[in-house]
Amino acid sequence: MSHIFGPVPSRRLGYSLGIDAVPFKVCTLNCVYCQVGRTSVNTLERKEWIAPGSIMGDLRRILEKNDTIDFITFSGSGEPTLNSALGEMIEQIKDMTTIPVAVLTNGTLFYLSEARKDVMEANVVVPSLDAVTPEVFQKINRPHPQLTVEKIVDGLKLLRKEFRGQIWLEVMIVKGINDSTEELKKIGAVIHDINPDKIQINSVFRPAAERNIEPAFLETLELARIYFGDRAEIIEEFRSDRHSAVAEDIKGSIIQLVKRRPCTVGDISKSLGIHETVIEKHVDGLLKEERIKEVIHRGIKFYQT
Ligand code: SF4
Repeated sequence: MSHIFGPVPSRRLGYSLGIDAVPFKVCTLNCVYCQVGRTSVNTLERKEWIAPGSIMGDLRRILEKNDTIDFITFSGSGEPTLNSALGEMIEQIKDMTTIPVAVLTNGTLFYLSEARKDVMEANVVVPSLDAVTPEVFQKINRPHPQLTVEKIVDGLKLLRKEFRGQIWLEVMIVKGINDSTEELKKIGAVIHDINPDKIQINSVFRPAAERNIEPAFLETLELARIYFGDRAEIIEEFRSDRHSAVAEDIKGSIIQLVKRRPCTVGDISKSLGIHETVIEKHVDGLLKEERIKEVIHRGIKFYQT
């Protein structure tokens, strides 16, 4: 799959052209609500996971043909700040076009000065923060063992001091995990210290990495809005830009594949190079949306359009 996807309509960023800066699925966290599926490489190692050259050539070609892009957005199927060439890529984009750049990140690496430096030329940084007590953090984000809440919060405060662009903090609230009044109040106090330009409250209204994950009650989200202050808003259509484009991209690839011939989950997994559990989740979604059909042939399940 290409490292560039879209442009896709996004509530916050208009027509957003996405760049995936790491392979599927390299991340510092393994969030229970992840739309992309479980993390296969849980790491803090910053390196050129994808060489800038292989992204920039494609980007230049796309920009030459497309004049409807409102934002160029680093997001995708993992954590973009893990790519140590992120700063270099943003600089190259700035030389190429005046289209603003956003970085959608889990915000876990900003305790590292190099990670903060890499996003300095971006226009908007959208980090997430779902928990501030260590137990809740472990439960919802299942982080790399060397990550702590203190490190992350300190990093976000340093980012606020050094970064001149907009910071829009996103908080994902999951029923029974981080939705207690106590945790929401504590998150609110930390948000006050970080001082982002906007706070966006979200919940899990799409298939998640784990099957038993449920969205928070609307009343809880309203309560969070009060604790998080004047700049907080509930994302109305309950969808995050963070990984939804990638999820849609995987679904689109599945449809293209089964249009040509009926396939099993195993066939789809092999063709797209994506783990079967992730494919199963998206196939379930496509069946519910009635975009594909299931047929049983000699006891084996196939999918087709
Ligand atoms: S939601 Fe984002 S930060 Fe969390 S595991 Fe998925 S890719 Fe990583």
